[in-house]
Amino acid sequence: MSAEIKVTVWNEYLHELKDPAVAAVYPQGIHGAIAGFLGAEKDFSVRTAVLREPEHGLSEEVLAQTDVLIWWGHMAHDQVEDSIVDRVYQRVLEGMGLIVLHSGHFSKIFRKLMGTSCGLRWREAGEKERLWVVEQGHPIAQGLGHYFEIPQTEMYGERFDIPAPDTLVFISWYAGGEVFRSGCCYQRGQGKIFYFAPGHETYPIYHQKEVQQVIKNAVRWAKPVSGLPQPVDPFRPCPPLEKLD
Ligand code: ZN
Repeated sequence: MSAEIKVTVWNEYLHELKDPAVAAVYPQGIHGAIAGFLGAEKDFSVRTAVLREPEHGLSEEVLAQTDVLIWWGHMAHDQVEDSIVDRVYQRVLEGMGLIVLHSGHFSKIFRKLMGTSCGLRWREAGEKERLWVVEQGHPIAQGLGHYFEIPQTEMYGERFDIPAPDTLVFISWYAGGEVFRSGCCYQRGQGKIFYFAPGHETYPIYHQKEVQQVIKNAVRWAKPVSGLPQPVDPFRPCPPLEKLD
């Protein structure tokens, strides 16, 4: 019997308001689409948060009640307050799971956690992407075959300037010839992090069932091991447990 997993879906939520073509794909916003399919899972309780809310919707109270945070951002990474980034960072170290999607590779929180530029090469040509499952048996690959395809995607290509993942679950191939490490697992402190590349705002990628499966799997994988994230035992000088000579 496992307790409900508390998920917060964070979205910058600007493309959908500015661009009718994006709004047509995601009438409830990208956060609404993701919260929609996650909310259908009996073991998840889901809320959303967006950039323009006070504290970007990520108050201390909200984060204290979040097991797994999902992050989508693109055009306004620099508008995310550093104090909120620090707050999210601290919660990850304390055990909150973090799933960073697509253009979130350049978010302040992902770059802070990775410690590298997180730069990559890209092309927006609506080409096919084939995601190869290179770690079969990994919880994030549950229910998938050897590979699945996204009919139209934005190409993200190597080099992707990230630290070598603890586990690489997916490698993408694109019709134009590039490859990309598109599903990367990390641990920082007590928190698990998963980066997943698909999700350009003008394509209906989060409506695709395999993509939804990956994100659902990732939430279950990234949840804290026991209960909500807990403050880390303070680092301090330490008396010996045994008598020392
Ligand atoms: Zn994109």
